[in-house]
This record gives sequence, structure tokens and C-alpha cells, in this order.
Amino acid sequence: MMEQYIEIKTANPDSLLFYRMGDFYEMFFQDAEVASRTLGIALTKRGKHLGEDIPMCGVPVERADDYLQRLIAAGHRVAVCEQTEDPKEARKRGAKSVVRRDVVRLVTPGTLTEDALLEPRRANLLAALVRGRAEDGGFAFGLASVDVSTGAFSVGEVAPAGLGAALARLDAAEVLVPEQLVEELAGALGETRAAVTPVGRDLSDPARAEARLAGHFGVATTEAFGSLSRPELAAAAAIVGYLERTQLASRPPLQAPVRESRGSVMEIDAATRANLELVRTLSGEREGSLLDAVDRCVTAGGSRLLATRIAGPLLEPAAIAQRHDAVAALIEAPELRRAIRRTLGETPDLARAAQRIALGRGGPRDLAAIRDALDAAHALGLRLAALDEAPAELEGIARALADADHALALDLRRTLADELPLLKRDGGFVRAGCDAELDATRALRDESRKVIAQLQAAYSEATDVRTLRIKHNNVLGYFIEVPQSHGERLLKPPHAEAFVHRQTMAGAMRFTTTELGDLERRIGEAADTALGMELALFERLSARVSESWESSRACAEALAALDVAAGLAEVAVDCAHVRPHVDDGLDFRLEGARHPVVEAALKRDGKPFVPNDVGLSAPDGAAGLIQLVTGPNMGGKSTYLRQAALCAVLAQAGAFVPATSARIGVVDRLYSRVGAADDLARGRSTFMVEMVETAAILNTAGPRSLVVLDEIGRGTATFDGLSIAWAAIEHLHEVNRCRALFATHFHELTALAKRLPRLRNATVRVAEWKGEVVFLHEVAPGVADRSYGVQVAKLAGLPASVVRRARAVLDELEAADRASPVERMIDDLPLFAATRAKPQGVAEPDPALEALEALEALDPDALTPREALEALYRLKALK
Ligand code: ADP
Repeated sequence: MMEQYIEIKTANPDSLLFYRMGDFYEMFFQDAEVASRTLGIALTKRGKHLGEDIPMCGVPVERADDYLQRLIAAGHRVAVCEQTEDPKEARKRGAKSVVRRDVVRLVTPGTLTEDALLEPRRANLLAALVRGRAEDGGFAFGLASVDVSTGAFSVGEVAPAGLGAALARLDAAEVLVPEQLVEELAGALGETRAAVTPVGRDLSDPARAEARLAGHFGVATTEAFGSLSRPELAAAAAIVGYLERTQLASRPPLQAPVRESRGSVMEIDAATRANLELVRTLSGEREGSLLDAVDRCVTAGGSRLLATRIAGPLLEPAAIAQRHDAVAALIEAPELRRAIRRTLGETPDLARAAQRIALGRGGPRDLAAIRDALDAAHALGLRLAALDEAPAELEGIARALADADHALALDLRRTLADELPLLKRDGGFVRAGCDAELDATRALRDESRKVIAQLQAAYSEATDVRTLRIKHNNVLGYFIEVPQSHGERLLKPPHAEAFVHRQTMAGAMRFTTTELGDLERRIGEAADTALGMELALFERLSARVSESWESSRACAEALAALDVAAGLAEVAVDCAHVRPHVDDGLDFRLEGARHPVVEAALKRDGKPFVPNDVGLSAPDGAAGLIQLVTGPNMGGKSTYLRQAALCAVLAQAGAFVPATSARIGVVDRLYSRVGAADDLARGRSTFMVEMVETAAILNTAGPRSLVVLDEIGRGTATFDGLSIAWAAIEHLHEVNRCRALFATHFHELTALAKRLPRLRNATVRVAEWKGEVVFLHEVAPGVADRSYGVQVAKLAGLPASVVRRARAVLDELEAADRASPVERMIDDLPLFAATRAKPQGVAEPDPALEALEALEALDPDALTPREALEALYRLKALK
């Protein structure tokens, strides 16, 4: 057996090997040590290898899911090795033969399907990226992703600069990366939570991609999936190849890959996502995130879809409007909305149940889930069809729901019992009356059980042993048990003839009879036959489910989309959200806007949230405004900045927004940064992080971007920080020309408004009441009074003498500052644009390029010696 173990283990060196032995998965050697440490289970020994004890530990098969989950969460991969023949077969080959075993599946973070291993409301994605030549001739990444638990499969092309944002959006559990790229891409990969699985050329080779993909889907060419570029094909094929390699026993059915066109979603990098807490908070929880604040979905599939939409807001105004139309229609029909939500609330997770069945990992309850979900889909389809003038999105949903496989639902209803066991293994899930032959066999089996009871009574009477019992165990089967004292009597005539002694236990003796043996065989046969029939029915139903897998998946998607629309309508009504107008312009105008998460938190404490307007629309419509927000700490600056960004995300995700009116020109890239966030874990100074991130924004933001910068520059000494913030604002204004919100405590920056026509000053208002500072959380045009810091210090209980002294120092400083270099500098300093060599380019002029140009312009044959010498000096001067 150890030989077999070592052979299988050698073939799977990167995984812990779950080696099936009876009712346990056993692990040996180093695997056992790792697993016992990770799982906190006892390490034992078994036999010797090369003279050393073999460490061993095991987990019961029944509870394997639980242990698998913990091992996967701890970053391990597990190879599940099963017995692939009946032990009886092995014994036939010879007394010492080892049962054949094989790895049937590699469990990795991205390939889970078991309910126990998955979070219901979160997609579990496996992604693959491959670099190659893109459609436009440059290099690009093909990025494919699949949710094995539902079969959803999509693929797209990403420019190298957008890779980080694209990976952050997918938030995959596992990413397949060509070996040779792992190191180079460590930065982008490090921003995600994904486990990185390096893959060799055999999986990522573009030359083999087409054939592999076509082979998997059984099509002649992949043109059936639309025109996929080479990197896209390669990425999709890597996924398919990896699934073939890990899902050995049964392949998950997959949707044909859906192509996402480049640039169809808002680009949001990992830092911005984290900072805005879109789908989880900085500490990693869902609670407290934007997603959590607007998720009123009543199905797990709905919540998963909403998370995807919030993570990837759209850019196409028409597509966005379609989603808004659906939400609006369900707001206007409250009765219908409630009815839909009631039905959806009782609808099981169709996508995951169908996938488990198709994979052969499902049980009777999955079949029931499919039955109930298909019924619900049918009912909801009828309801929606009754709507007059339904918007396109709801019409599409209604169509998909109408396609629900009604016949399958009926078949399942007819076949499945009312109460269902978790596992199909022991049978008992087929409804009585559904199959006459099964009913007859079951009757025989149950009849025989009654006969056993009668037999026990008869034997008890015949032997005069009141405590005689007929029992059953796996070793003896059925047997008769009597107390030792009576047992002796049964060994003698007249009983000895009928009762055959089997076993003597402490205090009891066990017997059998010919009658009992016969009965046992009959019971066993009937039970086996009945179970076999049930399992055959299960197989038939599973095959039916697989046949209509495509339509079930479409149905599941429609149910999810309906849940999202109804849930967003619900939250819009509950929390007074308004339909935003989204178009291709550069407007950004919110009235009465609120931060959905802060508002909800304040509401729980019975406190009101103060709504504010955000106006970044430039009067001429040519470029966006920059709003510079000053004001004391705790005044509400960060909240104000973030709510603007969150409204853009919600609007383009297809949701209504927390405001009284909203007009947004599509935001193609969103950036949000907070100065001086502690980031010691990554071993970079906070200031360095801040500058790296700010650099990324200044280098990439364009006129359609929305940039939110909170206290950039505070991570360094005052003049340093001030200068950096100053230059950054000028750059945003002159070069990026984007819509931006900039919160700062550098008061001096407010003077920039005099020079930059699209810069507006705003401040969070504060009032004094009975000598106390009251934060009004109201954002108004203008500049903050800078003495609030001292007042806040007073409130905080600084000794009066210190406060008095601070005020005196402040007065001095302010007096000096009025004629200070900073103020003068603002007036004197030439504008950013004037200091740049070329008005259009961001980059400094490159001397090498200039030298080349100059060289090219020279025609040696046409030069006099003197001109040649001059040309040489000119060239030399260019260095
Ligand atoms: P700053 O960035 O100016 O230091 P924050 O935005 O962090 O201030 O806000 C501080 C606190 O003030 C928040 O935690 C919130 O409870 C409260 N707050 C902020 N904005 C508002 C508002 N518009 N209405 C009510 N309370 C607010």
C-alpha cells in the first residue's frame, strides 16, 4: 500500500494527498505533519519506511468538507485520492492485493463547488492571464475567468497598464499565471487576495489554445464564440486545460466564454477599491461596505450579481439607462415588487445546485432546489409577462424565465419525496407511488423487517428467553443475542438443532438460524434492489438536469438580475435614492448627496445625515472642475469626497443614488487616495506609498476620470507636502483636466483659486455654540477659518494657558504670513503650463531624441567645413 501511496504522491507533489482508506482520508509523511498542524488533529504513526516511523493523520470522509475548507483557506491544495474498485475485486486478485486508487480531483481555491466550501453570496472565480500580441498590434493580457460553481465564463483583453485594476475587479480566488511572468507581475498580483498558481507552457501556449478550447466545447472552431484575440483564446484555453487537469472524475459544464469588450467597465485600481470600501471594508468585512449598504437582494445569486456590478460599473450610457429603467419600473409597481421579492425569497440557488448535479457532486436536495427554482422562475415569468410596457431589461428577464424547463420541474416534482435526505447514498428520496416496481421492492424489504420482529417474538417464546433480541451489525449481519446465562441452554437440545452458535461475548451469546439467514438474504436483496432503482432514477434525473443546463443557467441569471433590480428599487424607496442622469458629457452635479454607509450608520444612532451638493461641471462643459475642500478635522471632508465617488459607482452600476438629483457624465476611471495611510506591512514608508500612488494618478488620469484626493502631501514636512500638493493640483488642472475633489489642511492652497480658472474652494462649515465648536457637516463655497484647530484643542481639554499661548502664536504666524513668501509666491510663480517645455506632452524633452532628430536633419554632403564644425558643437550642446 505504501508503494501505491508513494507513487500517487510523487505524481502530485504540490498537493496534500487525501488517501482514501475505508471511512477516512489518511495523510502520511510530511503531509500528515502539515495537516495535523493546520487542522489541530492528532498525529499518529503507522508502519515504517526506510526504518523510520511513518507519521500519519486522518479525517473522516463524512466531515471532509470542513477540513478541506480549512486547508484551502490556509493556502494548501488537496489531491483527493479515492478507491476506484470494490475491495472484493482486489481480494479476487490475491490476498495481498491493494485496492486500486486514483486521484479523482484536485481541490484548489478557484475550483470549489461544495456548498460548505463556498460563501453563498460571493462568486468564487478562477482566473487566467496570458500575455500576447493584441488586436491593435501592441502587447496585451488575455484575462479569462470562470466561476466553477455556476459555470459562468468570461474573457477579455486588458492593456498592461490596466492589469492591476482588472485583477482587482475580478477579485478571483485563484489566478493562473505563466511561470515566466509570476515575478514580473508580482506587483499587480500582490494587490489581490488571489492564490497565484504558476502554469507551464503546456497550459498557456497560444498555439494549442484554439484546439483545446474547441475540443472542450465540442465545436469545430472557436469562431462560434465571436472573434477572440490570441491572448483571449490563450487565457480561456488555460482555464479549460486547468479544469481538465484538476477535475479529473467529472468536468464542470461551462458556459461558452462571453467576450467583454475592452474598456466596457470603469477602471478602478486596487487602492481605490480598498479605499472606497466598495465590496468590503478596509478590514476585509462585507458589513460596512457600499455593497452591503445597497444590497437588499433576497437570493444568493442576486447578491453575487450585485457585487459584480458594483465592482465593474458600466461606461455605456444606454446600457446603464436600461438598468435604471428596470429599477424605475419596479419602484412604480410596489405591489409587483413585493410579490416578486416574496417569491424570490423562497427560491433556492439554481445555478450552484445545477452545477453540483452536473458534476455528480449533488444530492437529492439539489434536485429539489432545481425543482423549486424552476417553478419560481415559471411563476415570475408569467407575472412579468403581464406587465404592459415593460422596459427592455425586464422583458429580457421575462423571456429567459419563460424558457424555464417546466417539464423538468414536473418530472422532479413527480419523482422526489417530500422529505429528502442530504445524501443519495442511502436512498429514501423517491416518492412512493412514482415507480410501481420500486414500490413493490420496498414493500418486500419493509415486509421482511416486520417478519424479523415476528421472528424475534417467536424465538423468544420458543426459548422462553424474554430478553432475546434479533440485532444487526456489519460483521455478522443479523443475529440472535441472549444473555450468557440463557445462552448455555441454547447450546443443548432441543434448541441446539435450530440455533447455531456464532459468538460469545462478555455476558452475551450470539446465534443464528437458517430461517434468519434466508430472511437476511431476502432483506438485503430487496434493499439493494430498491436502492439501485433509486440511484438509477437519480442518474436519470441528473442527466435531465444536465441536458437543460444551458437553459437553467440562463434562468438563474435572469432570476439574479430580477432580484438585483427589485432590491435596488427597494433600497431606492427605503433610503430616498434618485435616478441619476448619465450621459457622455463631462458633467458631475449632485444635489442633496449623502454617503450611503455613513448615513445608514448615523440613522441607526438616530442622527441625521447632512446632505451636500457636489458641483464639478465646468460652465463651458469642456473640462471638469476641481474642488478644493478645506476645514477642520472631523468636519466631514472625507465623507463628502467619498460620497461623490460612491454616487458615480452606483449610478454607473445601474443603481439609483443617494441624492435628490444627479447628473453624471460617464466616469471612465476612478481614483481615490488618502494621504499617509499607515502601510508598514508592505515595508514602504507611508510617504513613499502616497507618492507612488499619486504619481500613478497624475500619469494616467484623463478628462473623463474622477479623482478624489484626501490630504495628499500630509505625510511629509510642511513645505515639502505643500509643494507637492500644489504641483499636483496644477497638474490635474492643466494636464489631466479631470473632475477632481481635493481635501487638504494646507490652507495656502486656497490661494490657487485666483490663478486656476477651474479650481473652486469649498469648506466644511463649523459653528460656535456656547463656546463650543459644532460641526455642521455642511459644505459651502469659500475658505475655512484656520483657527478652529486651536478651538478644537480647547474642547479637547488642553490647559487654558496652552490654548491662550497657541492663539497668540497663531496670530503672530498669520500676521507674518500675510506678507509671507507663500502668498507672494502664489502671485509670482509662473503657472505650471508655463514651466513645461511642450504644452501637450507630460514628459520632459528627451535629449537623446533631440540629438537623433538633429542628426537626421544633417546632410553632410551639403555642409561647408565651417558649418560642419558648428553642427558638431550644436550636437555636443544637446548632451
Ligand atoms: P474629516 O475628513 O473632515 O476629518 P470625516 O469625513 O471623517 O471628517 O467625518 C467625521 C465624522 O463626521 C464622520 O465619522 C461622520 O460621523 C460625521 N459626518 C461627516 N459628514 C457628515 C454629514 N454630512 N452629516 C452628518 N455627519 C457627518
